[in-house]
Amino acid sequence: MDPVNRKLRVATAWLGGCSGCHMSLLDMDERLLALAGRIELMASPLTDLKDFPEADVTLVEGAVANEDHLAHIRHIRAHTKLLVSFGDCAVTGNVPAMRNAYGIEEVLNEAYQASSSVVKGVPAGNAVVPKLLGRVRPVHEVVPVDVFLPGCPPDADAIYELLSALLDGRRPEMGGRRFG
Ligand code: SF4
Repeated sequence: MDPVNRKLRVATAWLGGCSGCHMSLLDMDERLLALAGRIELMASPLTDLKDFPEADVTLVEGAVANEDHLAHIRHIRAHTKLLVSFGDCAVTGNVPAMRNAYGIEEVLNEAYQASSSVVKGVPAGNAVVPKLLGRVRPVHEVVPVDVFLPGCPPDADAIYELLSALLDGRRPEMGGRRFG
């Protein structure tokens, strides 16, 4: 892997996760400034781009839980050279996959009927609410993944090591850990 002589085009994406992995990315603190000179941030949950851009590296947080996630991760895979499964929800399904023990109807009824809510009723016929997949899936079950970055969340040091390695032309060494 050759060192990157231009700015590395990095993107991040948020599927079915709590955003804790992105909070950990921000936890790199002043190291973000060091990376900023060598990285071009193409897209992230902070941007509101309608089209996902071409990227060298994309870190994907969260599991694939609904039809929007599925379409998004397929699009990202087609537009990024190296895909990183970012955190345990992406790597294993983790917390979002706890619903896999139940049927979709049971999950929706628990969320929208049984829980406290001002408005009762399962959303139906509303195109804004994406349809749940029958089973929450880790990212690698849906598209090929190049690097696994486990942890709930991965700590800031691990994220920094990953990005530094890529910038230096090294394959990131995640210490053999696949699961956090
Ligand atoms: S891996 Fe942990 S911190 Fe990251 S999205 Fe999942 S639950 Fe949140």
